[in-house]
Amino acid sequence: MIVLVTGGAGYIGSHACRALKNAGYEPVVFDNFENGYRENVKWGPFYEGDIRKPADIDGAMAKFKPDAVMHFAAYAYVGESVQKPEKYYLNNVVGSYNLLDAMQRHQVKKLVFSSSCATYGVPDQVPITESQAQQPVNPYGNTKLIMEMMMRDHSDAGKIDYAALRYFNAAGASVDGEIGEQHVPETHLIPLVLDAASGRRPDVTIYGNDYPTPDGTCIRDYIHVEDLADAHVRALRLLAGGRGHFAFNLGNGRGFSVLEIIAAVEKVTGRKVPYRFGPRRAGDPAILVGDSTLACAKLGWNPQHRQIDDIIFHAWNYHKKVWKLE
Ligand code: UDP
Repeated sequence: MIVLVTGGAGYIGSHACRALKNAGYEPVVFDNFENGYRENVKWGPFYEGDIRKPADIDGAMAKFKPDAVMHFAAYAYVGESVQKPEKYYLNNVVGSYNLLDAMQRHQVKKLVFSSSCATYGVPDQVPITESQAQQPVNPYGNTKLIMEMMMRDHSDAGKIDYAALRYFNAAGASVDGEIGEQHVPETHLIPLVLDAASGRRPDVTIYGNDYPTPDGTCIRDYIHVEDLADAHVRALRLLAGGRGHFAFNLGNGRGFSVLEIIAAVEKVTGRKVPYRFGPRRAGDPAILVGDSTLACAKLGWNPQHRQIDDIIFHAWNYHKKVWKLE
């Protein structure tokens, strides 16, 4: 079974390609290498292209004739999406529409989509279940929700079967250190805290310490990237087994505040993390923690790396390798 993986050279997409290959699938990376890395393409062929260009998607589908699509390609910075919504709507919405359209032209019916807990906005209660209202509070979340709506309508019309995987905070790196997180510029908390621990940056700024949480800093649910990748393979198997559409939360079910992450990094690395408090970042809800009971039941998913120390340990190993610290 051939799977076209948009954004397959990126952080989560590359882990998914590795998991696909290990499970006996043939991943074809479709990436424009804007945020992805050529060295992350190791588990199958690649096609250089951009989801904003329908001809590129047509070219890849005509050449490789995929049986299914995994769609990761997207801009994913909440803060940037508030400043530059047009960039997000063009890539994440128009690009995703182009993909759906091409899937129909090429008779591809199975789609696993990289959605987000950002589609829930400020949750009514935590942990968040899939039945909670989806009311995003930033443009990034809006773009992911719009794609979920487009997929739902296409599925209802009998054109596709899909699984929307609503990730909480992807974190960590492959256990063997082969691939990991490397964004330029980096905006995600754990790699930034590791940068501060290793001296690659002077300190880390905590965005707000006046949230209604025990220590005043935001709480997030960090889920290991290999566990996320595994869920994608399981979702593909579920779709291959029959018709339907699904939405699953993928999280750990446990939240950590920004200060708790800093303390965990200090413990794992044995180094001090200089930090200071700054203003809140626009678009950030106070607490996002997921209930993944449904994914565990329906996909047989059982995250293997639930401990935050393990997640940080794997991220730290990768960080040391990439920045040649030892
Ligand atoms: N955060 C922070 N300082 C930073 C980067 C992030 O305090 O330099 C906070 C951010 O406000 C959020 C959490 O860390 O509460 C996780 O942010 P990240 O950007 O890693 O992921 P997101 O939750 O936006 O997907």
